[in-house]
Amino acid sequence: MESNAAPMAVSYAITLVAGQSDRARAREAAGMAAQTGMAQTGTGPDARQFHDGAGPETVITVSGLVKRYGDVEAVRGIDFTVARGETFGFLGPNGAGKSTTIKILCTLANATAGTAIVAGHDAATERDAVRRNIGLVFQDTTLDTYLTAEQNLRFHAELYGVPRAAVLPRMRQVLEMVGLWDRKDSLVSTYSGGMQRRLEIARGLLHAPHVLFLDEPTVGLDPQTRSSIWAYINDLKKREDITIFLTTHYMDEAEHCDRIAIIDHGKIVAIDTPEALKASIGKDRVQIHTADDQRAIAELTAKFGIEAAVHDGAVTFSVASGEQFVPRLFTEFSVPIQSVSVSRPSLDDVFMSYTGSTIRDAEGGAGNEFMRNMAKMRSGGRR
Ligand code: ADP
Repeated sequence: MESNAAPMAVSYAITLVAGQSDRARAREAAGMAAQTGMAQTGTGPDARQFHDGAGPETVITVSGLVKRYGDVEAVRGIDFTVARGETFGFLGPNGAGKSTTIKILCTLANATAGTAIVAGHDAATERDAVRRNIGLVFQDTTLDTYLTAEQNLRFHAELYGVPRAAVLPRMRQVLEMVGLWDRKDSLVSTYSGGMQRRLEIARGLLHAPHVLFLDEPTVGLDPQTRSSIWAYINDLKKREDITIFLTTHYMDEAEHCDRIAIIDHGKIVAIDTPEALKASIGKDRVQIHTADDQRAIAELTAKFGIEAAVHDGAVTFSVASGEQFVPRLFTEFSVPIQSVSVSRPSLDDVFMSYTGSTIRDAEGGAGNEFMRNMAKMRSGGRR
């Protein structure tokens, strides 16, 4: 039962901003020093001393996490940790289990089995404590578009119990960070999609959370806006002591992460830094367009002992050195070749190597998106 899926902030309206270290962080961030008069009560966690058994610098610890929706096993026993200050990404195609995992970490869904500790608190049994410590930015906008940006942020501040004197300086800080301070009095309905996403990020940061969860932060945005969102996120990492957990199915987005977990069919198949994952492949990727792909695949196996398959419309295979192999291809191959491309290992190759398909193939185009939307509708529009 997903009884805790109502707008989460409501359940802890006017609880305060957690403990001493949170107050210090918010105060420091807002540049307000002592005059803020922030609440002196609260038992929230010390940012530096999480009690998850995995060391004080571990902010998220997930063990044996499973989530079933009836017969669908969306998450099939995953384990990972995220260190304080890391930007950690879940990379996988639609339907891989990313949103389900993030929902469990954010206390918006119950796990079927396993545990998730976030900022020192159990996401299943200490929901309010987890919620005080996290900020959320989900794909589907939850802004009130008939209100101004400032009204949206003030409402959020109220729900999270941000001390009144701290609201304006903190609001100014987060809105300046995402380049929207000048537009704070505009109705959100007049904002572009990119501006709305930036405002969501600002709102997610308003209460100075320890962990910011971003579910597909740039999906549906144009490339320029996507790169500007990433400029804001990277800037944020420099300014605030924050851990970021994000999900994405964009390879270039995964490149921004300190570490990524590749998730496929509900399982983590690889986890490391993007560089280490690429190095683990150790091979160049060759793609050829031919007059007869099936004959080309058979000939690659027969003549060179190479396993090839059609991916993204081209015969694709890996060799130790593409530069040395391609000349041989032209002299020894009987199938006419129309074009050749050779690339160093990318995250695409990593994904293919660990899952057996490219992320685009794995997503299966529009049909899969349809299934995903159906699943969303089944879950009452929630993700
Ligand atoms: P991703 O975020 O990687 O696209 P999801 O976590 O949304 O993947 O989905 C993982 C699997 O769980 C998919 O097969 C999806 O259809 C299924 N699923 C997700 N939410 C629900 C739900 N509320 N009811 C039934 N199945 C669901």
